[in-house]
Amino acid sequence: MNCTRKRLVLAGGGHAHLSVLRALARQRPDIDAVMITPSTHQTYSGMLPGWMAGHYSMAECQIDLRPLAQAANAEMILDQVTGVNADLQRVTLANGTQLDYDMLSVDVGGETNLSWLETLGKRLLPVKPLGGFVQRWQGIVADAKKQNNFSLIVVGGGAAGVEIALAAQHVIEEQASLATVALIASERGLLPGHAAGVSNRVRYLLKQRGIALHEAQAVGAEDGILLGNGRHLYADTVVAATGSTPPRWLQTSHLALDEHGYISVDSAHRSISHPNVFAAGDVCARTDILMARSGVHAVFAGPVVAHNLIASITGGKFISYRPRKRSLYLMATGPKHAIASWGSFSATGHWVWRWKNQIDRRFMNKHKSGDSRYD
Ligand SMILES: Cc1cc2nc3c(=O)[nH]c(=O)nc-3n(C[C@H](O)[C@H](O)[C@H](O)COP(=O)(O)OP(=O)(O)OC[C@H]3O[C@@H](n4cnc5c(N)ncnc54)[C@H](O)[C@@H]3O)c2cc1C
Repeated sequence: MNCTRKRLVLAGGGHAHLSVLRALARQRPDIDAVMITPSTHQTYSGMLPGWMAGHYSMAECQIDLRPLAQAANAEMILDQVTGVNADLQRVTLANGTQLDYDMLSVDVGGETNLSWLETLGKRLLPVKPLGGFVQRWQGIVADAKKQNNFSLIVVGGGAAGVEIALAAQHVIEEQASLATVALIASERGLLPGHAAGVSNRVRYLLKQRGIALHEAQAVGAEDGILLGNGRHLYADTVVAATGSTPPRWLQTSHLALDEHGYISVDSAHRSISHPNVFAAGDVCARTDILMARSGVHAVFAGPVVAHNLIASITGGKFISYRPRKRSLYLMATGPKHAIASWGSFSATGHWVWRWKNQIDRRFMNKHKSGDSRYD
């Protein structure tokens, strides 16, 4: 490394950092870039339910970060960030190494919120980190096939919980297993933030597929779930799709955080306390607007963060990420069928799946092929 050059550390290889790597490859700013990622591959969550349902191979759902990092001339360190000291401009890795930076960009996503469920021990399967979920899922399907009356419960009434419950039921039915699947949404109900038309379509589908829906607070017990209404549900496996919490190590980072512990950023996705730190995706919270934590925003904020990081190096002007008022969500429902949700609009059918498949594959091709037509 040239000692006079500045160092940019990219923590995590999430959705936004895919755009950052591509921008570094195109513009080659005068900086030493280092990406810290626990895995050489980024698994695309939008295609995970399709993988569970058997429509995609895992290779189709993963982006190899190595060619992107190579094209960006970024060193890749296979490890996890376990601490940041933003005052000292230093990150600490799981192997104990400390790395000083001039600029830091954080896109490590969130962790699954497991509060209330930890008592479940080995029965608990958090959906994130995705790597852990992917490793265990096939074993669970095999158990469901072998064991009589296998019971799978998905906790989480958001889009991810719905997609996982429907994909699980589909694969279990295809394997002619006698397993049952249930979905637990909290008292906040099914699909909060989506129009009533969307949740009605999902309720109808759940009923049609024999997936019991419970709308009550779930608490983990040794052998299943206790509901807020006093009912006990036995479970062999409980999948937690309970939304994300920020990494705990942010607490000691000296970065300004919101009341939940996410990195507070402005419209340029720059930390409001440390101007040399940027953050995008599920790990950050905008101070100027309310923005849902979703892959859509992580993806669309990516080019903005890329632009602003390079502007910080070259002295250019910053730009803002202005999310659209409504985001399009396409939820896979098991077979090659999906539900679309966009504001008050909803639709369902095999054509929605084909639409989703086309969008997801386009996203993957963009980052797999390095095709500049997409920039
Ligand atoms: C089943 C499922 C389906 C979903 N479908 C959709 C959808 O259709 N549309 C949508 O908008 N959203 C969807 N979401 C939500 C979406 O996955 C997240 O909002 C999105 O992944 C956030 O992107 P991100 O870049 O913040 O983080 P991530 O995509 O989680 O990427 C973070 C990366 O950082 C790495 N990392 C984590 N910790 C560290 C660390 N300490 N150090 C270094 N690296 C680290 C991780 O390995 C990962 O590669 C879905 C979620 C799930 C679970």
